[in-house]
Amino acid sequence: MMNKKSSPLLIYGGRIIDPSQGIDEIGSLLITDGKISWLGKGEMTHPQPGYDVLHSQGLIICPGFIDLHCHLRQPGFEEKETIATGTQAAARGGFTTICCMPNTNPPLDNQAIIDYVKSVAATEGVIRVLPIGCISKGRKGKELTDMGDLASAGVIAFSDDGEPAADSRLMRQALDYSLALGLPITDHCEDIALTEGGQMNEGIISTKLGLRGIPNAAEDIIVARDLALAQLTGGRLHIAHTSTEGSVDLIRRAKEKGIRVTAEVTPHHLTLTEESVIGYGTNAKVNPPLRTKRDIQALIQGLNDNTIDIIATDHAPHTEADKLCGFALAPFGISGFETALGSLMSLVHDGQLALVTLIAKLTCEPAKIISNKYGKLGTLAIGVPADVTLFNPALNWIVDTKAFASKGKNTPLAGSVLKGKVMATISQGKLVYKDDYVKLETI
Ligand SMILES: [Zn+2]
Repeated sequence: MMNKKSSPLLIYGGRIIDPSQGIDEIGSLLITDGKISWLGKGEMTHPQPGYDVLHSQGLIICPGFIDLHCHLRQPGFEEKETIATGTQAAARGGFTTICCMPNTNPPLDNQAIIDYVKSVAATEGVIRVLPIGCISKGRKGKELTDMGDLASAGVIAFSDDGEPAADSRLMRQALDYSLALGLPITDHCEDIALTEGGQMNEGIISTKLGLRGIPNAAEDIIVARDLALAQLTGGRLHIAHTSTEGSVDLIRRAKEKGIRVTAEVTPHHLTLTEESVIGYGTNAKVNPPLRTKRDIQALIQGLNDNTIDIIATDHAPHTEADKLCGFALAPFGISGFETALGSLMSLVHDGQLALVTLIAKLTCEPAKIISNKYGKLGTLAIGVPADVTLFNPALNWIVDTKAFASKGKNTPLAGSVLKGKVMATISQGKLVYKDDYVKLETI
């Protein structure tokens, strides 16, 4: 059987920003046989007969975004999200590689279930899905999984996310293995003795609302412990969803000492405060909770001085019924893929984060944390499979959750105006999302 070769795709006349190669210039990018074959201003990048042309005047062309932390809910919670809907939502958000957390049912704690996720992703997913395996069997925090088996099944990290690795001895063993396997341990840092029954950030607002608070110390304590264990073992530690000023300080000092740690922060922890709980109720209920302006300033500073390596969404979809209840009963989580860029661009428009830094934290920086056995990611280098995102940095749009591809409509941003929108996403050479306003023509 003959395979019809697809036409070369020319992304024509945009601003190419690729922090991995130090590129920031107006030009075009050519994709041939699914790979990046040329970029720049030369002859090669003018429309030729037989090309598909994606007009990108006024748009930014950058490597596809990589998300090191999301929840796809399959298997077990398909009413909240599936690999199909989750990857479609991610594509609309400009992501071409996403790493899914293992708190599914059953959890991703053995080779067979990793194979299942990979095969569903290959047939039903529209972008690359790289699973994260459990640290402990059944995410129960008692006994390590067969981490070697999970590594050969293709997990890119280990985590019991949703729960911390509460047992210090278990965390020490996991970090020992991380050293041997060359894969990071991603910890959800929460001292559960301090957070039991906790609903939101502990402070004046939690007192006013009569909701039990979650203090910054609950995170800081486990971050400090994990850093001590990373120092002890030499293992690779990755801190999930950093939310406090204290964590940023601890990670900064640990990096100065040469401890092998990387850290992520979410768009919501960078842009929303605990005050959102007053206006948006359960859709602003997230763990760790939305904190204060002071924490946000520390997180932004952490991004700018590379204490915090990357931005990850922690996309956590829930059904409307899940969130339509009293605050205390509602599950934690925000549906984050489709608003990530728009909300993060507010930091660029305010002058708090350079555009190139934002793009690096979504592309080449997360690529560094993923073992390169999964291919060269986060770059527009010639010859790599073409993962490319196009976005309009200045377009205002209203967040309409009814238009979300995600089943999760749970976001405090519903109805708000964001400035900056993803306009097209190309995953491994295939156009997997295009906004109606972007013109595609065959010459
Ligand atoms: Zn978590």
